[in-house]
Amino acid sequence: GVTIGVLALQGDVREHLAALSGAGAHAVRVRTPEELDAVDGLVLPGGESTTMEKLLRAFGLREPLVERIDAGMPVYGSCAGMILLADEILDGAPGQRTLGGLPITVRRNAFGRQVDSFECDLAMPALEGDGPVRAVFVRAPWVEEVGPDVEVLARVPEGNGVASDRVVAVRRGDLLATSFHPEITGDHRVHAYFTRVVRERVNA
Ligand code: GLN
Repeated sequence: GVTIGVLALQGDVREHLAALSGAGAHAVRVRTPEELDAVDGLVLPGGESTTMEKLLRAFGLREPLVERIDAGMPVYGSCAGMILLADEILDGAPGQRTLGGLPITVRRNAFGRQVDSFECDLAMPALEGDGPVRAVFVRAPWVEEVGPDVEVLARVPEGNGVASDRVVAVRRGDLLATSFHPEITGDHRVHAYFTRVVRERVNA
């Protein structure tokens, strides 16, 4: 089996661990460079992207993580995790940096600063199993532009105001990102999809 880490500095760590276990992965917390070395793939949970970037530096994880991303480790970023993976950021905090790796431009707090959360059902045909995904967005970014070879996995359906048609799930090779939080709905299909990405990478 594959070992998938959850960056355990902030966010829904326990829920991500449970969802990965439910998807058949061996799921472990990652807080040190040694723990990062031991995983085949990594989940970056939601939280606050500027705080998370600072914590990554404080824990000595920023550089090793950028190196692993460059070396092709599969990473799944949710919400703030999507921001961390993005090459470009709009409406970032002054001087805000990302880790990069995924050629997308994200708009931070895109649904509106005053909009704390927003939910809708999304079609996400790349997932196994039937039915839409219940997407919960919490002060979420959306993807404003996608670069070469980026696959759009989901958009907000029509009828959702300014968010209609916005790209909220993408993949490029071994990097996956969603604007929403699949760990809190009990539907493990996004984690199962990422677990397959990690398995394919390990078996390649
Ligand atoms: N707005 C947060 C940020 O900029 C992301 C929110 C989330 O991850 N739920 O990092």
